[in-house]
Amino acid sequence: MECFDVIIIGSGPAGTATALNLLRADPTLACNILLLDKAVHPREKICAGGLIPHTLDCLNALEIPLTVPHVQVNRARVRALPGREVVCDEGGMCSIIRRNEFDFLLVRAAAERGAEIRQGEKVIRLVRESDGIRVMTEKTTYRARIVVGADGSGSRVRRQLIGQTRQPVGKAIMADVPVSETDWDGFAQQRYDFNFLPVQDGLRGYLWAFPCLIEQVAHVNLGIYSLGVRSFSNAALQDRLTTEIDTFSPARAAGQTRRLRAFPIYGYALERPLAAPHVALVGDAAGAEPLLGEGISFALEYGAFAAQAIREALRTKDFSFDSYTRTLAQAWLGKKLARLSFATKLFYGRTARLWFTLAARNTRLQSVGLKWYNGVDGWHQRSGWDAVRAVINRYPRQP
Ligand SMILES: Cc1cc2nc3c(=O)[nH]c(=O)nc-3n(C[C@H](O)[C@H](O)[C@H](O)COP(=O)(O)OP(=O)(O)OC[C@H]3O[C@@H](n4cnc5c(N)ncnc54)[C@H](O)[C@@H]3O)c2cc1C
Repeated sequence: MECFDVIIIGSGPAGTATALNLLRADPTLACNILLLDKAVHPREKICAGGLIPHTLDCLNALEIPLTVPHVQVNRARVRALPGREVVCDEGGMCSIIRRNEFDFLLVRAAAERGAEIRQGEKVIRLVRESDGIRVMTEKTTYRARIVVGADGSGSRVRRQLIGQTRQPVGKAIMADVPVSETDWDGFAQQRYDFNFLPVQDGLRGYLWAFPCLIEQVAHVNLGIYSLGVRSFSNAALQDRLTTEIDTFSPARAAGQTRRLRAFPIYGYALERPLAAPHVALVGDAAGAEPLLGEGISFALEYGAFAAQAIREALRTKDFSFDSYTRTLAQAWLGKKLARLSFATKLFYGRTARLWFTLAARNTRLQSVGLKWYNGVDGWHQRSGWDAVRAVINRYPRQP
Protein backbone atom coordinates (compact mmCIF):
# COMPACT_ATOMS: atom_id res chain seq x y z
CA MET A 1 0.00 0.00 0.00
CA GLU A 2 1.38 3.43 -0.94
CA CYS A 3 1.88 5.83 1.97
CA PHE A 4 2.09 9.62 1.89
CA ASP A 5 2.52 12.28 4.54
CA VAL A 6 -0.28 14.31 2.99
CA ILE A 7 -3.10 13.25 0.69
CA ILE A 8 -5.15 16.15 -0.62
CA ILE A 9 -8.55 15.08 -1.91
CA GLY A 10 -9.73 17.47 -4.61
CA SER A 11 -7.60 19.54 -6.97
CA GLY A 12 -9.73 22.67 -7.27
CA PRO A 13 -8.30 26.00 -6.01
CA ALA A 14 -8.34 24.89 -2.35
CA GLY A 15 -6.52 21.61 -2.92
CA THR A 16 -3.92 22.98 -5.32
CA ALA A 17 -3.35 26.03 -3.08
CA THR A 18 -2.69 23.71 -0.13
CA ALA A 19 -0.12 21.77 -2.18
CA LEU A 20 1.46 24.91 -3.65
CA ASN A 21 1.80 26.57 -0.25
CA LEU A 22 3.32 23.42 1.25
CA LEU A 23 5.80 23.14 -1.60
CA ARG A 24 6.70 26.82 -1.45
CA ALA A 25 7.51 26.50 2.24
CA ASP A 26 9.32 23.17 1.90
CA PRO A 27 10.09 21.81 -1.60
CA THR A 28 11.43 18.59 -0.06
CA LEU A 29 7.83 17.62 0.75
CA ALA A 30 7.16 17.06 -2.97
CA CYS A 31 7.52 13.27 -2.88
CA ASN A 32 5.24 13.12 0.14
CA ILE A 33 2.21 14.97 -1.20
CA LEU A 34 -0.45 13.29 -3.31
CA LEU A 35 -3.36 15.16 -4.90
CA LEU A 36 -6.31 13.00 -5.88
CA ASP A 37 -9.21 14.09 -8.07
CA LYS A 38 -12.13 12.19 -9.49
CA ALA A 39 -12.12 14.47 -12.54
CA VAL A 40 -9.47 14.97 -15.20
CA HIS A 41 -8.28 18.53 -15.85
CA PRO A 42 -9.17 20.66 -17.68
CA ARG A 43 -12.54 19.76 -16.17
CA GLU A 44 -15.80 21.64 -16.22
CA LYS A 45 -16.72 23.44 -13.02
CA ILE A 46 -20.03 25.22 -12.55
CA CYS A 47 -18.90 28.68 -11.51
CA ALA A 48 -19.15 32.27 -12.75
CA GLY A 49 -15.37 32.57 -12.44
CA GLY A 50 -15.16 36.02 -10.83
CA LEU A 51 -11.77 36.60 -9.19
CA ILE A 52 -11.85 39.47 -6.72
CA PRO A 53 -8.60 41.51 -6.60
CA HIS A 54 -7.43 39.69 -3.48
CA THR A 55 -7.37 36.44 -5.49
CA LEU A 56 -4.71 38.00 -7.71
CA ASP A 57 -2.68 38.84 -4.59
CA CYS A 58 -2.91 35.16 -3.57
CA LEU A 59 -1.74 34.12 -7.04
CA ASN A 60 1.14 36.62 -6.87
CA ALA A 61 2.19 35.17 -3.53
CA LEU A 62 2.29 31.76 -5.20
CA GLU A 63 4.16 33.23 -8.20
CA ILE A 64 1.47 32.16 -10.63
CA PRO A 65 0.74 34.80 -13.27
CA LEU A 66 -2.86 34.87 -14.53
CA THR A 67 -2.00 33.60 -18.01
CA VAL A 68 -5.44 32.19 -18.86
CA PRO A 69 -7.95 34.26 -20.86
CA HIS A 70 -9.89 36.64 -18.62
CA VAL A 71 -12.17 39.64 -18.82
CA GLN A 72 -11.36 42.66 -16.71
CA VAL A 73 -14.31 44.25 -14.88
CA ASN A 74 -13.99 47.90 -13.91
CA ARG A 75 -17.50 48.84 -12.87
CA ALA A 76 -20.50 47.32 -11.17
CA ARG A 77 -24.20 48.02 -11.64
CA VAL A 78 -26.31 47.13 -8.64
CA ARG A 79 -30.09 47.11 -8.48
CA ALA A 80 -31.61 46.57 -5.07
CA LEU A 81 -34.40 49.13 -4.82
CA PRO A 82 -37.17 49.56 -7.39
CA GLY A 83 -36.45 52.33 -9.90
CA ARG A 84 -32.95 52.91 -8.62
CA GLU A 85 -29.62 51.59 -9.75
CA VAL A 86 -26.16 52.26 -8.41
CA VAL A 87 -23.09 52.20 -10.61
CA CYS A 88 -19.74 51.86 -8.84
CA ASP A 89 -16.81 52.91 -10.94
CA GLU A 90 -13.76 52.09 -8.88
CA GLY A 91 -11.83 50.21 -11.57
CA GLY A 92 -10.01 46.89 -11.12
CA MET A 93 -13.01 45.18 -9.50
CA CYS A 94 -12.78 41.68 -10.83
CA SER A 95 -11.12 39.40 -13.39
CA ILE A 96 -13.41 36.80 -14.86
CA ILE A 97 -11.94 33.48 -15.89
CA ARG A 98 -13.32 30.10 -16.90
CA ARG A 99 -12.75 27.48 -14.28
CA ASN A 100 -11.64 24.70 -16.64
CA GLU A 101 -8.73 26.91 -17.71
CA PHE A 102 -8.00 28.51 -14.32
CA ASP A 103 -8.00 25.27 -12.30
CA PHE A 104 -5.84 23.59 -14.96
CA LEU A 105 -3.34 26.46 -14.58
CA LEU A 106 -3.12 25.78 -10.83
CA VAL A 107 -2.85 22.02 -11.31
CA ARG A 108 -0.05 22.43 -13.86
CA ALA A 109 1.82 24.74 -11.47
CA ALA A 110 1.48 22.21 -8.64
CA ALA A 111 2.69 19.39 -10.90
CA GLU A 112 5.63 21.45 -12.19
CA ARG A 113 6.66 22.12 -8.60
CA GLY A 114 6.73 18.44 -7.80
CA ALA A 115 3.30 17.50 -6.44
CA GLU A 116 2.07 14.13 -7.57
CA ILE A 117 -1.42 14.44 -9.04
CA ARG A 118 -3.60 11.46 -9.85
CA GLN A 119 -6.72 12.31 -11.79
CA GLY A 120 -9.77 10.29 -12.71
CA GLU A 121 -9.50 8.59 -9.32
CA LYS A 122 -12.54 9.04 -7.09
CA VAL A 123 -12.17 8.63 -3.34
CA ILE A 124 -14.97 6.43 -2.12
CA ARG A 125 -14.17 5.63 1.50
CA LEU A 126 -12.02 7.03 4.30
CA VAL A 127 -11.23 5.26 7.54
CA ARG A 128 -9.45 6.74 10.53
CA GLU A 129 -6.76 4.54 12.03
CA SER A 130 -4.62 5.10 15.12
CA ASP A 131 -1.81 6.83 13.21
CA GLY A 132 -3.44 8.12 10.04
CA ILE A 133 -6.18 7.69 7.49
CA ARG A 134 -6.82 4.87 5.05
CA VAL A 135 -8.00 6.35 1.75
CA MET A 136 -9.85 4.03 -0.58
CA THR A 137 -10.36 5.06 -4.18
CA GLU A 138 -12.01 3.31 -7.09
CA LYS A 139 -8.56 2.04 -8.05
CA THR A 140 -6.55 1.35 -4.93
CA THR A 141 -5.98 2.06 -1.23
CA TYR A 142 -3.51 4.54 0.28
CA ARG A 143 -2.42 5.52 3.74
CA ALA A 144 -1.81 9.11 4.81
CA ARG A 145 -0.66 10.75 8.00
CA ILE A 146 -2.78 13.76 7.04
CA VAL A 147 -5.80 14.02 4.76
CA VAL A 148 -6.92 17.38 3.44
CA GLY A 149 -10.57 17.58 2.44
CA ALA A 150 -10.55 19.87 -0.58
CA ASP A 151 -13.37 18.00 -2.25
CA GLY A 152 -15.87 20.82 -2.55
CA SER A 153 -19.27 21.54 -1.11
CA GLY A 154 -20.51 17.93 -0.98
CA SER A 155 -17.24 16.85 0.72
CA ARG A 156 -16.98 13.15 1.36
CA VAL A 157 -14.07 13.85 3.72
CA ARG A 158 -16.32 16.11 5.81
CA ARG A 159 -19.13 13.56 5.88
CA GLN A 160 -17.00 10.50 6.61
CA LEU A 161 -14.29 11.86 8.90
CA ILE A 162 -15.69 14.95 10.59
CA GLY A 163 -19.41 14.30 10.69
CA GLN A 164 -22.08 16.12 8.78
CA THR A 165 -23.83 18.84 10.71
CA ARG A 166 -26.98 20.59 9.64
CA GLN A 167 -26.10 23.68 7.67
CA PRO A 168 -27.94 26.08 5.47
CA VAL A 169 -26.96 25.00 1.99
CA GLY A 170 -27.15 27.55 -0.75
CA LYS A 171 -27.50 26.93 -4.42
CA ALA A 172 -26.45 28.71 -7.57
CA ILE A 173 -27.74 28.15 -11.10
CA MET A 174 -26.15 29.63 -14.19
CA ALA A 175 -26.22 29.75 -17.98
CA ASP A 176 -23.81 31.15 -20.57
CA VAL A 177 -25.30 33.20 -23.39
CA PRO A 178 -23.32 34.63 -26.34
CA VAL A 179 -23.34 38.45 -26.05
CA SER A 180 -24.26 38.59 -29.75
CA GLU A 181 -27.64 37.05 -28.87
CA THR A 182 -28.41 39.71 -26.26
CA ASP A 183 -28.79 43.45 -26.07
CA TRP A 184 -26.55 43.63 -22.97
CA ASP A 185 -23.94 46.40 -22.95
CA GLY A 186 -22.03 45.10 -19.90
CA PHE A 187 -19.34 43.27 -21.86
CA ALA A 188 -18.42 46.37 -23.86
CA GLN A 189 -18.49 48.49 -20.72
CA GLN A 190 -16.32 46.08 -18.68
CA ARG A 191 -19.15 45.88 -16.17
CA TYR A 192 -20.84 43.23 -14.09
CA ASP A 193 -24.41 43.49 -12.83
CA PHE A 194 -25.98 42.43 -9.56
CA ASN A 195 -29.75 42.36 -9.16
CA PHE A 196 -31.01 42.07 -5.58
CA LEU A 197 -34.60 43.05 -6.43
CA PRO A 198 -35.89 39.47 -5.89
CA VAL A 199 -34.96 39.84 -2.18
CA GLN A 200 -38.29 41.65 -1.90
CA ASP A 201 -40.02 38.47 -3.07
CA GLY A 202 -38.27 36.43 -0.40
CA LEU A 203 -35.14 35.32 -2.26
CA ARG A 204 -32.11 35.28 0.01
CA GLY A 205 -29.76 35.94 -2.84
CA TYR A 206 -29.46 37.74 -6.13
CA LEU A 207 -29.17 37.50 -9.89
CA TRP A 208 -25.92 38.26 -11.66
CA ALA A 209 -24.60 39.00 -15.14
CA PHE A 210 -20.86 38.60 -15.65
CA PRO A 211 -18.96 39.16 -18.90
CA CYS A 212 -16.76 36.23 -19.90
CA LEU A 213 -14.88 34.70 -22.79
CA ILE A 214 -15.63 31.17 -23.89
CA GLU A 215 -13.25 30.00 -26.59
CA GLN A 216 -12.56 33.65 -27.39
CA VAL A 217 -16.25 34.44 -27.92
CA ALA A 218 -17.85 37.14 -25.74
CA HIS A 219 -20.52 35.68 -23.46
CA VAL A 220 -22.62 36.81 -20.56
CA ASN A 221 -22.76 34.41 -17.63
CA LEU A 222 -26.21 34.78 -16.07
CA GLY A 223 -27.03 33.22 -12.76
CA ILE A 224 -29.08 33.17 -9.61
CA TYR A 225 -27.82 32.56 -6.09
CA SER A 226 -30.07 31.44 -3.27
CA LEU A 227 -29.01 31.00 0.33
CA GLY A 228 -31.06 28.39 2.14
CA VAL A 229 -33.16 25.73 0.56
CA ARG A 230 -36.62 26.47 1.86
CA SER A 231 -37.62 29.86 0.48
CA PHE A 232 -37.25 29.11 -3.23
CA SER A 233 -37.71 25.72 -4.83
CA ASN A 234 -35.48 24.54 -7.65
CA ALA A 235 -38.22 25.11 -10.15
CA ALA A 236 -38.86 28.66 -8.87
CA LEU A 237 -35.16 29.51 -9.14
CA GLN A 238 -34.97 28.11 -12.65
CA ASP A 239 -38.09 30.06 -13.67
CA ARG A 240 -36.66 33.28 -12.25
CA LEU A 241 -33.36 32.77 -14.07
CA THR A 242 -35.13 31.91 -17.31
CA THR A 243 -37.15 35.12 -17.04
CA GLU A 244 -33.91 37.04 -16.52
CA ILE A 245 -32.31 35.38 -19.54
CA ASP A 246 -35.36 36.40 -21.60
CA THR A 247 -34.94 40.04 -20.58
CA PHE A 248 -31.31 39.90 -21.73
CA SER A 249 -32.10 38.23 -25.03
CA PRO A 250 -35.63 39.32 -25.99
CA ALA A 251 -35.11 38.16 -29.59
CA ARG A 252 -34.54 34.59 -28.44
CA ALA A 253 -36.22 32.20 -30.84
CA ALA A 254 -39.46 30.76 -29.49
CA GLY A 255 -38.85 27.41 -27.88
CA GLN A 256 -35.06 27.91 -27.71
CA THR A 257 -33.87 26.72 -24.33
CA ARG A 258 -30.69 27.54 -22.46
CA ARG A 259 -28.61 25.00 -20.62
CA LEU A 260 -29.02 25.77 -16.92
CA ARG A 261 -26.42 24.28 -14.58
CA ALA A 262 -26.81 24.16 -10.81
CA PHE A 263 -24.44 23.46 -7.94
CA PRO A 264 -24.90 23.49 -4.13
CA ILE A 265 -22.97 25.86 -1.86
CA TYR A 266 -22.06 24.93 1.69
CA GLY A 267 -21.74 27.95 3.97
CA TYR A 268 -19.11 28.61 6.61
CA ALA A 269 -20.36 28.48 10.21
CA LEU A 270 -18.30 29.51 13.21
CA GLU A 271 -19.49 26.70 15.44
CA ARG A 272 -18.80 23.85 13.02
CA PRO A 273 -15.57 21.82 13.33
CA LEU A 274 -13.25 22.01 10.33
CA ALA A 275 -10.78 19.40 11.49
CA ALA A 276 -10.39 16.11 13.36
CA PRO A 277 -7.35 13.98 14.16
CA HIS A 278 -5.29 13.62 10.94
CA VAL A 279 -7.83 15.64 8.89
CA ALA A 280 -8.35 19.28 7.91
CA LEU A 281 -10.92 20.81 5.59
CA VAL A 282 -10.28 23.62 3.11
CA GLY A 283 -12.28 25.61 0.57
CA ASP A 284 -15.93 24.81 -0.04
CA ALA A 285 -15.58 21.62 1.99
CA ALA A 286 -14.93 23.86 5.01
CA GLY A 287 -17.47 26.49 3.99
CA ALA A 288 -17.85 29.23 1.43
CA GLU A 289 -18.90 32.78 2.15
CA PRO A 290 -22.69 32.82 2.31
CA LEU A 291 -23.55 36.40 1.26
CA LEU A 292 -22.57 36.27 -2.42
CA GLY A 293 -21.16 32.75 -2.69
CA GLU A 294 -17.68 33.95 -3.68
CA GLY A 295 -15.30 31.15 -2.89
CA ILE A 296 -12.16 31.16 -5.03
CA SER A 297 -10.15 33.68 -3.01
CA PHE A 298 -11.26 31.94 0.19
CA ALA A 299 -10.22 28.58 -1.26
CA LEU A 300 -6.73 29.93 -1.93
CA GLU A 301 -6.54 31.46 1.55
CA TYR A 302 -7.79 28.27 3.21
CA GLY A 303 -4.98 26.49 1.34
CA ALA A 304 -2.34 28.83 2.78
CA PHE A 305 -3.81 28.45 6.24
CA ALA A 306 -3.97 24.64 6.08
CA ALA A 307 -0.41 24.41 4.73
CA GLN A 308 0.84 26.21 7.83
CA ALA A 309 -1.11 23.87 10.12
CA ILE A 310 0.13 20.79 8.23
CA ARG A 311 3.77 21.88 8.47
CA GLU A 312 3.32 22.41 12.19
CA ALA A 313 1.75 18.95 12.56
CA LEU A 314 4.58 17.29 10.63
CA ARG A 315 7.15 19.17 12.71
CA THR A 316 5.64 18.41 16.11
CA LYS A 317 4.14 15.00 15.22
CA ASP A 318 0.91 16.23 16.78
CA PHE A 319 -1.74 15.31 14.23
CA SER A 320 -4.76 16.24 16.36
CA PHE A 321 -5.45 19.51 14.48
CA ASP A 322 -7.28 20.49 17.63
CA SER A 323 -6.61 24.21 17.25
CA TYR A 324 -7.29 24.39 13.49
CA THR A 325 -10.97 25.43 13.70
CA ARG A 326 -10.40 27.95 16.50
CA THR A 327 -7.27 29.50 14.97
CA LEU A 328 -9.00 29.85 11.63
CA ALA A 329 -12.01 31.51 13.28
CA GLN A 330 -9.72 33.99 15.03
CA ALA A 331 -7.69 34.76 11.91
CA TRP A 332 -8.85 37.45 9.49
CA LEU A 333 -10.09 34.66 7.18
CA GLY A 334 -12.56 33.36 9.76
CA LYS A 335 -13.51 36.88 10.81
CA LYS A 336 -14.27 37.87 7.23
CA LEU A 337 -16.38 34.74 6.73
CA ALA A 338 -18.22 35.37 10.01
CA ARG A 339 -18.91 39.01 9.08
CA LEU A 340 -20.28 37.93 5.72
CA SER A 341 -22.51 35.39 7.52
CA PHE A 342 -23.77 38.20 9.73
CA ALA A 343 -24.34 40.40 6.66
CA THR A 344 -26.78 37.80 5.29
CA LYS A 345 -29.00 38.54 8.28
CA LEU A 346 -29.03 42.24 7.33
CA PHE A 347 -29.30 42.05 3.56
CA TYR A 348 -31.52 38.98 3.30
CA GLY A 349 -33.52 39.54 6.49
CA ARG A 350 -36.61 41.54 7.42
CA THR A 351 -34.68 44.83 7.50
CA ALA A 352 -33.10 44.29 4.07
CA ARG A 353 -34.69 47.39 2.57
CA LEU A 354 -33.10 49.62 5.23
CA TRP A 355 -29.60 48.24 4.58
CA PHE A 356 -29.92 48.39 0.82
CA THR A 357 -31.17 52.00 1.10
CA LEU A 358 -28.22 52.94 3.31
CA ALA A 359 -25.77 51.28 0.94
CA ALA A 360 -27.35 52.90 -2.11
CA ARG A 361 -27.21 56.40 -0.61
CA ASN A 362 -23.76 56.45 0.91
CA THR A 363 -20.92 56.40 -1.59
CA ARG A 364 -18.29 56.20 1.16
CA LEU A 365 -20.00 53.11 2.52
CA GLN A 366 -19.97 51.61 -0.99
CA SER A 367 -16.29 52.42 -1.44
CA VAL A 368 -15.19 50.99 1.92
CA GLY A 369 -17.51 47.99 1.52
CA LEU A 370 -16.07 47.20 -1.90
CA LYS A 371 -12.48 47.60 -0.77
CA TRP A 372 -13.17 45.37 2.20
CA TYR A 373 -14.97 42.70 0.17
CA ASN A 374 -12.39 42.75 -2.63
CA GLY A 375 -9.45 42.74 -0.23
CA VAL A 376 -7.99 45.93 -1.68
CA ASP A 377 -5.31 47.93 0.20
CA GLY A 378 -5.35 45.43 3.08
CA TRP A 379 -8.94 46.38 4.00
CA HIS A 380 -10.03 42.77 4.49
CA GLN A 381 -7.64 42.51 7.43
CA ARG A 382 -8.76 45.71 9.13
CA SER A 383 -11.18 45.98 12.00
CA GLY A 384 -14.88 46.87 11.80
CA TRP A 385 -14.12 50.04 13.73
CA ASP A 386 -11.64 51.13 11.07
CA ALA A 387 -14.40 50.72 8.51
CA VAL A 388 -16.91 52.69 10.62
CA ARG A 389 -14.35 55.47 11.13
CA ALA A 390 -13.58 55.57 7.41
CA VAL A 391 -17.28 55.84 6.54
CA ILE A 392 -17.91 58.57 9.12
CA ASN A 393 -14.74 60.47 8.32
CA ARG A 394 -13.79 61.46 4.83
CA TYR A 395 -12.26 58.58 2.96
CA PRO A 396 -10.49 55.30 3.76
CA ARG A 397 -6.93 55.91 4.81
CA GLN A 398 -4.25 53.53 3.69
CA PRO A 399 -3.45 50.91 6.36
C1 LIG B 1 -22.89 28.77 -10.04
C2 LIG B 1 -21.74 29.17 -9.16
C3 LIG B 1 -21.10 30.36 -9.41
C4 LIG B 1 -19.97 30.73 -8.63
N1 LIG B 1 -19.33 31.89 -8.94
C5 LIG B 1 -18.23 32.23 -8.25
C6 LIG B 1 -17.49 33.40 -8.60
O1 LIG B 1 -17.82 34.11 -9.54
N2 LIG B 1 -16.38 33.70 -7.88
C7 LIG B 1 -15.97 32.92 -6.84
O2 LIG B 1 -14.95 33.25 -6.21
N3 LIG B 1 -16.64 31.80 -6.48
C8 LIG B 1 -17.74 31.43 -7.18
N4 LIG B 1 -18.41 30.29 -6.84
C9 LIG B 1 -17.88 29.46 -5.75
C10 LIG B 1 -16.66 28.65 -6.22
O3 LIG B 1 -16.98 27.91 -7.38
C11 LIG B 1 -16.17 27.72 -5.12
O4 LIG B 1 -16.11 28.44 -3.92
C12 LIG B 1 -14.81 27.12 -5.44
O5 LIG B 1 -14.89 26.28 -6.54
C13 LIG B 1 -14.27 26.34 -4.23
O6 LIG B 1 -13.08 25.68 -4.58
P1 LIG B 1 -12.69 24.28 -3.91
O7 LIG B 1 -11.34 23.97 -4.39
O8 LIG B 1 -12.97 24.33 -2.45
O9 LIG B 1 -13.75 23.23 -4.49
P2 LIG B 1 -14.03 22.78 -5.98
O10 LIG B 1 -13.61 23.80 -6.95
O11 LIG B 1 -15.46 22.33 -5.99
O12 LIG B 1 -13.07 21.53 -6.20
C14 LIG B 1 -13.33 20.30 -5.58
C15 LIG B 1 -12.58 19.22 -6.34
O13 LIG B 1 -12.74 18.00 -5.62
C16 LIG B 1 -12.96 16.95 -6.54
N5 LIG B 1 -13.67 15.88 -5.82
C17 LIG B 1 -14.89 15.97 -5.24
N6 LIG B 1 -15.19 14.79 -4.67
C18 LIG B 1 -14.15 13.97 -4.87
C19 LIG B 1 -13.88 12.61 -4.53
N7 LIG B 1 -14.76 11.87 -3.84
N8 LIG B 1 -12.70 12.08 -4.91
C20 LIG B 1 -11.79 12.81 -5.60
N9 LIG B 1 -12.01 14.08 -5.97
C21 LIG B 1 -13.17 14.66 -5.61
C22 LIG B 1 -13.78 17.60 -7.66
O14 LIG B 1 -13.65 16.88 -8.87
C23 LIG B 1 -13.13 18.99 -7.73
O15 LIG B 1 -12.09 19.04 -8.69
C24 LIG B 1 -19.53 29.90 -7.57
C25 LIG B 1 -20.22 28.71 -7.31
C26 LIG B 1 -21.30 28.34 -8.09
C27 LIG B 1 -22.00 27.05 -7.78
